[in-house]
Amino acid sequence: MRRKSKEVVLPAVRPLLAAAPEPGDRSTDVFSKAKRSEVMSHIRGRDTGIELQVRHWLHSQGFGYRLCVRTLPGTPDIVMTKYRTVIFVNGCFWHGHGCHLSSSPKTNPEFWRNKIEANRLRDERSELALTDLGWRVVTIWECDLESRPDLVFRRLKARLRAARLRMAKRHAIRRDAACTFQPGR
Ligand SMILES: [Zn+2]
Repeated sequence: MRRKSKEVVLPAVRPLLAAAPEPGDRSTDVFSKAKRSEVMSHIRGRDTGIELQVRHWLHSQGFGYRLCVRTLPGTPDIVMTKYRTVIFVNGCFWHGHGCHLSSSPKTNPEFWRNKIEANRLRDERSELALTDLGWRVVTIWECDLESRPDLVFRRLKARLRAARLRMAKRHAIRRDAACTFQPGR
């Protein structure tokens, strides 16, 4: 059977999102407060799901990590101090990935565009600030996790290995410097 359009509808979430009104706009306020927070928690639930998927994988591979370190820019989802690496697990809709999972809802498109653009800018700023502080930033996208998790995790493993090597080298250089530097001679 041929599909009419390329747009893929996010199951369960998209119809709710499409109807979500702009705050304060009474004419389109089709949701009660309770209903709206139910919609939002549904989306958050999806995002938590993909983050859990990554955490389970890390755990199964024996990688240690910390969660949501608020002292770091952008409060990364997963922080791996030993690797000087942070991981963001991004829901495609909220973070404006531009893929099939992130198409704008038909209702209140401007509201959603502004909101998601603000998220995207914040993500960019956070990544720059983290890089400046010497962190490696890995972003994992919902659509990739959904369609090719094996590849996502293979890449993540490679990046973590590289980060570990980098850290080990840095420590070795420091150790050498400490051994060869003999003040007063
Ligand atoms: Zn995506």
